[in-house]
Order: sequence, then C-alpha cells, then structure tokens
Amino acid sequence: MATDTNGATTGKNVVEYDVLIVGGGFSGVSAAYHLQSTCPGIKFRILESRKNMGGTWDLFDYPGLRSDSDMYTFGFSFRPWGHVQFQCQVQNADWDSQQGNWTLTTLQKQNNDDSTTTVTYRARYLFSCTGYYDYEEGHTPEFPNRDAFQGPIIHPQHWPKDLDYKDKKIVVIGSGATAVTLIPSLTEGANAASHVTMLQRSPTYMANRPSRMTIVPRSLLYWFGQDAARWFYILLGMFMYYICQAFPRALSEFFIDGVEHQIGSDKFKEDDWTPRYKPWDQRLCACPDGDFFKTIKSGKASVVTDHIVEFTEKGVQTEKNNVLPADIIITATGLQIRFFGGIKITLDQMPLDMPSRFIYKGFMMNEVPNFFVAGGYNNASWTLKIDLTMKAASDLIKIMETKLYRYCQPELPKPGNEMEAVPSIDLTSGYIQRSKNLIPRQSTLYPWRLYQNYLYDRYSLQFKSLEDDTLKFYK
Ligand SMILES: Cc1cc2nc3c(=O)[nH]c(=O)nc-3n(C[C@H](O)[C@H](O)[C@H](O)COP(=O)(O)OP(=O)(O)OC[C@H]3O[C@@H](n4cnc5c(N)ncnc54)[C@H](O)[C@@H]3O)c2cc1C
Repeated sequence: MATDTNGATTGKNVVEYDVLIVGGGFSGVSAAYHLQSTCPGIKFRILESRKNMGGTWDLFDYPGLRSDSDMYTFGFSFRPWGHVQFQCQVQNADWDSQQGNWTLTTLQKQNNDDSTTTVTYRARYLFSCTGYYDYEEGHTPEFPNRDAFQGPIIHPQHWPKDLDYKDKKIVVIGSGATAVTLIPSLTEGANAASHVTMLQRSPTYMANRPSRMTIVPRSLLYWFGQDAARWFYILLGMFMYYICQAFPRALSEFFIDGVEHQIGSDKFKEDDWTPRYKPWDQRLCACPDGDFFKTIKSGKASVVTDHIVEFTEKGVQTEKNNVLPADIIITATGLQIRFFGGIKITLDQMPLDMPSRFIYKGFMMNEVPNFFVAGGYNNASWTLKIDLTMKAASDLIKIMETKLYRYCQPELPKPGNEMEAVPSIDLTSGYIQRSKNLIPRQSTLYPWRLYQNYLYDRYSLQFKSLEDDTLKFYK
C-alpha cells in the first residue's frame, strides 16, 4: 500500500478516498469547495474525463460564446482550485451495501499518450457532477440528402478553430441561445460572413438586456457590496419569471413588440417572431445590448421560418419552395442529453432504474445511499442551485461523520401512500422532451418536488434541519 499526494491510501490499482466527485465543471468545483470548507480533512478527489477543468465552458469554443446569466448569480463567491484526476472517465459505479461504499471503475489516460489503464476508486460518498449532455456529440436531426451538400456542416459543440467563414454565406439551423449568440459574431469584424440566414422551425422568445450593470445594481454594489448586487439579480430574475407565469399573454406581447421595436417594422414578420409557447415554457434567450436585433436590422442576417425538405449541393431546400444558398451550414440544433455522464450505476450489482426514482430536495434519489446529484435551475443561473445543494450534501456528510452513520438515503412513503409522479423538468424545449423518459421524476409535494425557486430552496436546504423524516440514517 502507498499513499498519494492527497493522503489517499492506494493499493494495486485501487485508490481509496472518503468522497469521489465525478466531473470537474462548475458543479464539481462547487461540491469540492463546500466539502473542503465544511468537512476539513476529508479525503476527496475529482475524477474528470477531459484534460481541463470547466466542463461546458471549456468544451464550447464557437465565436461569441457567452453566458446568458449575469455574473453576480452565475459566478461563485469563491475561487476554484485543484485535487483533480484529469483524463479519468468513470464507467461504472456500484454501491456495496455490506461494505457501505461505492466502487468506481474508470479508464484513465496515461500522461503522454492515448493508452488507457483501468483504475478502481473506492469511497463512501459519491457526487455526480457530470452535467446533463453528451460531450462527444451534439444533437443533430437526420437531414435528407445531407451528404449532397458540398461545404462544411458544423455543430457548434465542435467548432473547428481554423474555420474560414470570411465573405461566406452561412445557414444556421436553429433559433435557440446558441444561434442567437453565434449570429452577431459571425457577421462582425474583418472575417465577417457575407450573410447569415437563421432557419427556424418555430420562433423563440428573445429579449434585449443591458450587457453592463444599470444604475440600480451599480449603486447597490457601490454602497452595499457584492452580496447586494447578487441579491438584486436573484430577485430580478425571480420577478421576471413569476410575472411571465402569471401574465403569459401580456408578457408574450411585451417581448414580441420589443422585437418589432428593435428590428423595425419593415423587417418584422409576425410568423418569424411569434413563439408557439408561453414565455418561460422554454428558456428565454437574452440578447446583450440587443446585438442580435441590430444584426437583423442591418440586413447582415435574416430569419426564415420553414421546414427543411433536404440539403442540396449548394444549400438547403425548404418546404415553402425556398432555396437557401449556403457555403457553410451550422446545425445549432442543441444538445444530446446524457445524465450521470453515461456511468452505469448499480446497487449491489443490480442496475439502477433511473426513470423510476424520485428526486429528493433536488440532490438525492430515493433508496440510493450516499449519492448526491448536481442539477441547476431552469429559470435562473445554474450555479445558484448547485451552491445550495452541494453545501447541503457537505453538511450531511459532516453530520454523518460526526454521528458515525455509515450511510443515509431518502426513502419513499410506505406502500399505500404512493406519491403522484410528474416529470422533473417542465420545460417544453426539444432537448427536455427528448429525454423526459430517461430521468428521475419528481412529485407534487415537498421534499420530493423541485420548486425552481431560490428563496424556497435556500430556506429548505439552509435553514431547515437536514435530518428530516424522509431521510433515513443507518449505522
Ligand atoms: C452553450 C451553453 C451555454 C450555457 N449558458 C448558461 C448560462 O448562461 N447560464 C446558466 O445558468 N447555464 C448555462 N448553461 C448550462 C451550463 O451547462 C451550466 O451552467 C453549467 O456550466 C453546468 O455545469 P456542470 O458542472 O453541472 O456540468 P458541465 O459543465 O457539463 O461539466 C460536467 C463535467 O463532467 C465531466 N464528466 C462527464 N461524465 C464524466 C464521466 N463519466 N467521467 C468523468 N468525467 C465526466 C465532463 O467532462 C465535464 O467536465 C449553458 C450550457 C451550454 C451548453
């Protein structure tokens, strides 16, 4: 037996820690930060399959990539640091109820070549901070006659660094946040494309927002500091979300009128800007300082609402008899959902049937011991929720270490008191609909309901006792 630099005990290809965190994106960083501050001395390791930290924000590299969220709620209040095993792809995780621990089988790349070795890790607690999509491939629907197209077809998840789009005609398929972010960048600067067409099946709600702080948060920051500015953005985001829910028709008109005002009546066609859903049934696309609208107004980009018949040698044929000429096609068609990083999770070697489980307080699953999941908000910065749940998980570990519990798990009500099951994400976006049968469910009442409400979650995770009637502890 040997001891590695972080004090973990290692045997032949078996490495033992108290806690393993799978994923080195924002969620993994948050989990590690809270663990280290709540349980000093605990031995933990982040297992990350890529070469770098940052997850999403390291993977994506398309022109204009940016966050829709304000930095006061999206950013953490602390700074990240190490404890990471890079190039370590977790494949299986098995809970052993006799031993009270998780065993992870991983494929680990050697430093300077592509060969891999199998390394087994063991720990009592496991954090799944693997994000929600497949890193290898984005979602690309089948386009008839795809191979006929003579130019490059690019998914923004794998942006070629050397892509030359200067003076080229580009068709961007899709009208979500990625398309809206990309298009102004593709039409700006010395390398600008000659024209970009955004081809959408149906429109998305978009709103102008200032890229810099306005007078109110700036004054709050000046007089009361960072926390005050953060709270301003938290409450503003919640207010916007709840008025959209309460007055969908009025807010729908407000957003659509806003677009007409921004791009001008001559460029405005109702069919191109009137979504078929209510505001916030899907995430709202933010356009900093109206950059996307300015691009449409200038004529450098245009919008077509239509369905694709097929790709041709020189573009895209659509149903309304449009031929959209293109030198490059960009498929901004979204992400391929993959939960738990594709890890095969078993309990005593029996496969865990994910869709039959219920999410508890947004960070555990019924009858799955010592397992914590990182999932963020749909309607606010992802990290706001992660910060709460990863802290709660660390607090739980502290309780268990202090009271010498071996494991804990939330348990469903006794037979006869079955709960109603509803999908855990209620957005109508394509990527959510494609995956709703793969993910654990929620119910209608606390603690089995996801409230998507920072104030409520903060109260329930930070001010209520974590030792409740649903969570069972075992020695
Ligand atoms: C283009 C884009 C823009 C976005 N903009 C916003 C925004 O403005 N505001 C917002 O709140 N959210 C936004 N999001 C959502 C964003 O994903 C989250 O905000 C956040 O970055 C997710 O962090 P995460 O750590 O949970 O997951 P990720 O960032 O996905 O990190 C997961 C990590 O786990 C690793 N991993 C996965 N499986 C395994 C495995 N089996 N073994 C080892 N390692 C594994 C991955 O390599 C990765 O590093 C955006 C997402 C995208 C794709």
